[in-house]
Amino acid sequence: MENCVFCKIMAGEIPSTKVYEDEEIVIFKDIEPKAKIHLLCVPRDHFALLSEADDARAALLGRTLKKIGALAPSLGLSDGYRLVVNQGENAGQTVHHLHIHILGGQSLPWE
Ligand code: 5GP
Ligand code: ZN
Repeated sequence: MENCVFCKIMAGEIPSTKVYEDEEIVIFKDIEPKAKIHLLCVPRDHFALLSEADDARAALLGRTLKKIGALAPSLGLSDGYRLVVNQGENAGQTVHHLHIHILGGQSLPWE
């Protein structure tokens, strides 16, 4: 997708610090970390919103969550982590390519 920063990162046109990649997802470090560990897990498939997910994308997202769970220890997240998926304007979504924030490496404030 043209003009999509995450598609450009996955195409190697914008540098990033990748920590994992396979045929359907890439995980790289957020450029403006909001926790000691702040990763972005990005499906290669370009779509912005969960409301655009058909059955194939739903299955992709399910596999993606399972992979995050399996990868967590190797990403330094053995003590726990938080997943965030910003959707739309009120959530402050700035990149319109669906992504899962992975936050951890420290105790995370909730209230
Ligand atoms: P959103 O607000 O859309 O949920 O999150 C987008 C995230 O992408 C932000 O946390 C922002 O710091 C990150 N981001 C934006 N541009 C880049 C970039 O060029 N490289 C990396 N690694 N992260 C980026
Ligand atoms: Zn994209």
